[in-house]
Amino acid sequence: MKVALISFYSRQIEYPNRYSLSVLRLAEYLKSYEINVDIIPIDLKEYENFDVYNVINNNYDLVGISNFSWVNHATIDIDKKLKEINPNLEIVIGGPEVEVMDINQFDKEYFIIGEGEEALKRLCDYIKDGKKDKNFFNNNINIFNKENVYHEKVEDAIQIKNPLFTNTYIDDRDFLWYETCRGCAYNCGYCGHKTRHKVAYIPLDIVEQEIKNIGRLGFKQIFVIDPNFAGSKKRAKVVLSYFNKYAPNTKIGLYFRPEFIDSEMIELLKNANISQIRIGIQTTNINVPQWLRSNNMYSVINELPKLSENNIPWRAELITGLPGDDFEGLKNSIDFVCSLNPTEFYSYHLTIIPNTPLYNLKDNFSNNLWITTDEANRAYECSSYSHEELLEMLEYAKEKEEEYNLKEIKIKKIRR
Ligand code: SF4
Repeated sequence: MKVALISFYSRQIEYPNRYSLSVLRLAEYLKSYEINVDIIPIDLKEYENFDVYNVINNNYDLVGISNFSWVNHATIDIDKKLKEINPNLEIVIGGPEVEVMDINQFDKEYFIIGEGEEALKRLCDYIKDGKKDKNFFNNNINIFNKENVYHEKVEDAIQIKNPLFTNTYIDDRDFLWYETCRGCAYNCGYCGHKTRHKVAYIPLDIVEQEIKNIGRLGFKQIFVIDPNFAGSKKRAKVVLSYFNKYAPNTKIGLYFRPEFIDSEMIELLKNANISQIRIGIQTTNINVPQWLRSNNMYSVINELPKLSENNIPWRAELITGLPGDDFEGLKNSIDFVCSLNPTEFYSYHLTIIPNTPLYNLKDNFSNNLWITTDEANRAYECSSYSHEELLEMLEYAKEKEEEYNLKEIKIKKIRR
């Protein structure tokens, strides 16, 4: 069995690694069952020029293409070109976009919804056995195609047999996306990061070995994509101690909750090689309903200044355009955030993501709170602000962000 996994990459200046974490995990899992896997990186900017004969000529038994919202056009294009040359090529498409894409635009492709490690392995077995299993789709409801359209997401434990970099090697070592858990225990109504109802954890012995591998292979920088680093305060301390012990030269970026901070955590963070901790404060405006933001202002006020006092680099993140907010509310949020002395702050323009509670407010004018969006699904107008007011809010946030971040850079230079 010979499998190709296509990994689209972009933003190489900020994140110089051509291999997505999901593809690395899938490859490692299949290889642990002695399935041959080639990872084929494709530059998202150049996908139209990609020579699909690089795939066709290798006679793969199955080609996997991952689909995220930002690569959807490339996924469809590469799939179409492969099918034009070899209509019998077995292709599977996985990734978060599978939940919302129209499968009628495809032919005989397979689709995997939700996490793909075990599903992909089962699909490989099915194809290898000549597709004889009549109950295959009934027994694997997270795999479907146009003839077997019924599907459901499955939320099992994360399927990992071998730690990353046991059988999979990559040359790109300047940067790596990494994870120690999937899902988030909090509920922010706008969040598209909640891929699971319950948090699933990668066993700590696997995480320990993976961090040893990260240190041994000399990755210069990683970003841990756990929605909240390691999933809990207790685990965060253990995982940080692994990084401090096994990969002290690797710079770490991560997302954190203020509730995770206490004196022991501060000591661990001080000893860690942190490049940046990102903390979502979102807004301080109490007119934005709690179900939308789920931020804990007590911890924000009491714990975050400790990061600044101990010179731990952190970025405060706000969202411009949450329903209930307005110019005055945004201004107060920015003033408050600056008073916490973060290393930098950043304000995102709110995106309204399908399948989130916030999405139910979209064009729902019978509700007290409603919101409309532009063609990129970003907030456009809302029950609490007009479009003109939103434009002023975005401009104000950008100006303040630049002013604050520039001032912080100058202060740091003077201190050096
Ligand atoms: S925004 Fe962060 S804390 Fe809130 S639900 Fe999403 S991942 Fe969890």
